[in-house]
Amino acid sequence: MSQPPLSPIYYFDNNATTRVAPEVVEAMMPFLTEQWGNASSAYQFGQRVRPHLDEARAKVAALLNADPKEIVFTSCGTESNNTAIHSALALHPGKRHVVMTAVEHSANLKYGEFLQRRAYDITYLPVESDGSLDIHLLDRAIRPDTAIVSVMWANNETGVIFPIDEIAAICRSRNVLFHTDGVQAAGKIQVDVRSTEVDFLSLSAHKLHAPKGIGALYVKRRTRFQPYLVGGHQERGRRGGTENVPYIVGFGRAAELAMARQEEENTRVRALRDRLEQTLLGTVPNCVRNGAREPRLPNTSNLGFDFVEAEAALMMLDQAGICASSGSACTTGSVDPSHVLTAMGVSPLRARGSLRFSLGVYNQESDVDYLLAHLPGMIARLRAISPLDAAHPDNDRFDLAAARQRHEQERGPSLAKAGSPTTGG
Ligand code: PLP
Repeated sequence: MSQPPLSPIYYFDNNATTRVAPEVVEAMMPFLTEQWGNASSAYQFGQRVRPHLDEARAKVAALLNADPKEIVFTSCGTESNNTAIHSALALHPGKRHVVMTAVEHSANLKYGEFLQRRAYDITYLPVESDGSLDIHLLDRAIRPDTAIVSVMWANNETGVIFPIDEIAAICRSRNVLFHTDGVQAAGKIQVDVRSTEVDFLSLSAHKLHAPKGIGALYVKRRTRFQPYLVGGHQERGRRGGTENVPYIVGFGRAAELAMARQEEENTRVRALRDRLEQTLLGTVPNCVRNGAREPRLPNTSNLGFDFVEAEAALMMLDQAGICASSGSACTTGSVDPSHVLTAMGVSPLRARGSLRFSLGVYNQESDVDYLLAHLPGMIARLRAISPLDAAHPDNDRFDLAAARQRHEQERGPSLAKAGSPTTGG
């Protein structure tokens, strides 16, 4: 299928996925070309790749200050989250209660709904208006039949960081297993499983400049574990399935790079994010930040623009080559505001006009200049024809469906098809 050539992009959606680092591609290539043997084979051609798997495991472990034996490679962050909760429930059949926050990624929330349909009881903890968690509520939610608590380390939409140390301490004192979804945190901020005692922690390589389709679950050494995928003896019997050697090697290299670049993430990337955010807050009327300023991931900014449809803004941004996202989900015929912003009590009007910008080490000052040169004018244009401002005389001029159709004709399939969730990570 022939595609028009790609025009330059200005990428502000690193929480959805990241560009694969050239160093990662380079590390993977030998295992896609010459060294394609099965690491579990008895002959030398397969056995020769085994040390590379071990090396990658050690690098991923180092990112968390874990022991390599505590790392189980999976296919993605979603599998890691599902596996942790599954393991806790399978090993404690008498305990049918799970606690998670209302702002978890769908990789957790949808598994919670799946469990509810099987008569498990799930408590979804509410959050404060700045996206933070009142840990007293967590303490009160834990019951004698609670099998596991699952709270993300950092939120993918707002970047708000939860007090994982304190949550881990509560779970330990109440003798309840604790899983944290560390998909957005690892590599961006310090994540140390020796100083923060979690039982399980999920990782996803494609948030760290490695390819999609490879993840890991940290399982604390003495935490009992029941596999989710049952099959071969791979991963010391903890996850069946022939090891994805090239991707595991790529993940290892990406973990190594993330450690080396963490300082840059917290200084240069943070400064870019702050310039972007401060300029928009200072120059665009009726623009507010969603979520606490701190503690927050250094790369994430979630901003609400009143009287704007985020989906329309994303289309305009896309036409200028700018990639960003909203937390909204498109269900047939309507746009549902983000579950994260809704849980924070953000009004539907503001939630529908909220955009997430997530930066990364490949962003430059010139990317921020470009965004700042385009976005304020786009917001003004959208507001001038906003169907959300009921008092506006031109309120019937903006036709979202027609805009989407035009957009698809010009740029290919839309960012958001009706019926498919748009929550990109
Ligand atoms: N958890 C969080 C917080 C995420 O942002 C994502 C990203 O989409 C996931 C889990 C799912 O990871 P994956 O895409 O590897 O399944």
